[in-house]
Amino acid sequence: MTIIHNIMEFMINRWRLTLWLVASAPALSAGAAPASWTSAERQAFTVCWDAPGFPEEKSWVQDVVEREYGHRGFLNAVSWRDCSEAPEALLHISIFDQGAHTLALGRNLAQRTHGLVLNFTFRHWSRSCQTNPKACIEGIAVHEFGHVLGLRDALISHPDDPASCGGQSLKHTTEDEDDGGTSVADHDSVMNYCNPSWRGAVLSAGDVAVLKEILGD
Ligand SMILES: [Zn+2]
Repeated sequence: MTIIHNIMEFMINRWRLTLWLVASAPALSAGAAPASWTSAERQAFTVCWDAPGFPEEKSWVQDVVEREYGHRGFLNAVSWRDCSEAPEALLHISIFDQGAHTLALGRNLAQRTHGLVLNFTFRHWSRSCQTNPKACIEGIAVHEFGHVLGLRDALISHPDDPASCGGQSLKHTTEDEDDGGTSVADHDSVMNYCNPSWRGAVLSAGDVAVLKEILGD
């Protein structure tokens, strides 16, 4: 009886999860494609920080964005200034102790205040990152810059993934469901919540292929 009960509960939970995923992760065709940065914008991309301090953490973000997106030609960030000095910057980054996220995808982020929120302290969110903040900051930055280029969150699990990965909220990203965006398909994607190696902060072969396709590079 207990076993049957457990199986039923499992099935109901799977069904609930499926419904929730369908509701929270519309397929690419369901949403409009996010506005894309022009090639000229991506090749002379301007970023500003709207919070002072954290020079080391900021340099980690800059370096990993250059390593993963810059040298591949996806995004050449030519300036990282303070937003007070460069309000015209295309991407505005805030630093708050909350869940990292973007307000939209792709060019819909252009010049938006708090367009990208990063967390450098992890006192209230993702507290396990306090033991190795550099790896977390780099991994999260590569994920969030995937959103900046129009990629969506993904939940692609393997049987040996921790059970918790499927229970995470995909509402990490967009408040605008209409942003659409491009879905990735591989387990190693930096956009995949179930990627156990996300702290490695390395674009997967699938990420690179998808970005080449949508950016036309
Ligand atoms: Zn995300």
